[in-house]
Amino acid sequence: MSQGYQRSLPLLDDLNRFYWTSGKDGVLRMLRCQSCGHWQHPPRPVCPKCLGRKLEPDTLSGKGKVFSFTVNAKSWGPGLEVPYVIGIVMLDEQDGLQLTTNLRDVAPEDVKIGMPVEVFFEKDEDVWLPMFRPTMQAASA
Ligand SMILES: [Zn+2]
Repeated sequence: MSQGYQRSLPLLDDLNRFYWTSGKDGVLRMLRCQSCGHWQHPPRPVCPKCLGRKLEPDTLSGKGKVFSFTVNAKSWGPGLEVPYVIGIVMLDEQDGLQLTTNLRDVAPEDVKIGMPVEVFFEKDEDVWLPMFRPTMQAASA
């Protein structure tokens, strides 16, 4: 057993399992209403827009922008490196579609509101945690 920092992992249920295991193939997925196309996160069984009940996981680009962030300088446990950046990322697919995440591969003083970021995943036990880092500026292959 590791003595390191144990982060609290999400509890998986039938509604959110797809989300927390989506990173298995490196793709971010969220529920999307099959009636009106509205993205829904966190997962809920009913679309808030049209009250439709046919929501299914769909793939996202994994790209977004930093909406807000906070730098945490307090070490909450051994093995947790500080400072680290907790950010709210607004996804490109839909205005208001956001998630709270960790921003990586960027110094806390370099994080800016509106900065383009992209998803990557960190596997922890049986979940893939979505993290974000600055979008690569180099041309993609
Ligand atoms: Zn809908």
